[in-house]
Amino acid sequence: MKTANKKVTAERLVRDALEKAKHFADYNIFTFLNEDGAIRRAREIDKRIARGEKIGRLAGVPYALKDNFLSPDGETTASAHILEGFKSPITATAVAKLEAEGAIMIGRTNLDAFAHGSSTENSYFGPTLNSVDKTRVAGGSSGGSAVAVALDIVEFATGTDTGGSIRQPASFNGVYGLKPTYGCISRYGVVAMASSTDCIGFFTKTPDDMDLLMSIASGQDAKDMTTLPDYYNDNTEFAHKKVRIGIIKDFDNDSVDKEIRAALKTKCELLKSKGHEIVELEMPALKYALAAYYIIVPAEVASNLSRYDGIRYGFRSDESDVLDDLYFNTRSEGFMPENKRRIMIGNFVLSSGFYDAYFLKAAKARTLIIKEYEKAFKKCDFILTPVSPNLAFRLGEKVNDPVSMYLEDVMSVPLNLAGVPGLTIPAGKAKSGLTVGIQMIGPRRSDKALIEFSKELSEDD
Ligand code: GLN
Repeated sequence: MKTANKKVTAERLVRDALEKAKHFADYNIFTFLNEDGAIRRAREIDKRIARGEKIGRLAGVPYALKDNFLSPDGETTASAHILEGFKSPITATAVAKLEAEGAIMIGRTNLDAFAHGSSTENSYFGPTLNSVDKTRVAGGSSGGSAVAVALDIVEFATGTDTGGSIRQPASFNGVYGLKPTYGCISRYGVVAMASSTDCIGFFTKTPDDMDLLMSIASGQDAKDMTTLPDYYNDNTEFAHKKVRIGIIKDFDNDSVDKEIRAALKTKCELLKSKGHEIVELEMPALKYALAAYYIIVPAEVASNLSRYDGIRYGFRSDESDVLDDLYFNTRSEGFMPENKRRIMIGNFVLSSGFYDAYFLKAAKARTLIIKEYEKAFKKCDFILTPVSPNLAFRLGEKVNDPVSMYLEDVMSVPLNLAGVPGLTIPAGKAKSGLTVGIQMIGPRRSDKALIEFSKELSEDD
């Protein structure tokens, strides 16, 4: 990570990043550029450097913040109309930790509203364009963050991953994207989507940068009771010489793009040539993951979105004398169609007549999936799979067909249901020039080993 010093000032780094952000304005990456704030902060850091003070491990490093992280810099909108005008009085723990090390936020990035989606087309501010082909989607929901790193505007960006929102856009834009173990990084101050699967993570260009960010951001937080005691920094160097890599037989079929399958095979050959062992896995319970996810997540979404009433946050529809009308109009106008779809599904699966048939069944399927991973990790150290069945698809191709959009998540959501970490690793380009990514999965708390081992698959080999 290029940090500021006496020769290369933080102001220089920030101005360069802002200039690049403006140069790529047509990609629709940012919902807000933090020009004044970032330059002010950079000057403060430069003064401290001039005085010989120690700044931190991210001294003057510009970064992009997914617009569902709360901080007083700009409005936090989660790319949703209903949050327009909302200025947060608090700062997310993850943001506070990064900035305590000297990182400077240059802009807030576009996402599918409330992180509901796989393409960033559900944003109130319009889609972000793919970094290598402007006719295609950036992936989602953290599309803006992925493209900001892919186009070298910033060296890192934050993301959230509830069912693939870091890993899939990372793969669609050829960068590293990590969804850590559930509970590794505090979710305090991040707009909640589904509290039992939401994870905070990052986009970077290298595994070493990912490791640095994880060592800064991870750890227990009294403000988020689901955080784990800091295991990340306790993990000793990854010591295994010979590693067993699991491959899931069921994912090698015609519903997965040929070039993705070929990239996975090439990486397996590379690993074998380095002395690692490939083992075939059968994980039949994973076939329930998508259905279970699209019951459990909407249920939690319906609950988490109930707080947006037009009174407490952001946008309020035209004043009405009748309170119920105010709620109704604000929510009708303020949410995107996909948000509404999830609120309706969520309330349906939780309603008394249907709870047992849907929510309870999905919760049981989730337990099966957790056990399936536990079993698999007795046979192997890591699992290698595609991130999603397709390469970056065309803008408009799936946005009006929710089920085909949901199907894109079939390989990413099982990890969130089980709470295990997954890392997207760039794996070259398809003939069309689109980027290919593969996903490496580890047992809970194996995040550091996962990042370390990903170097074995590095593109520079
Ligand atoms: N694409 C998935 C969904 O729409 C995941 C979203 C996310 O991880 N935030 O639910």
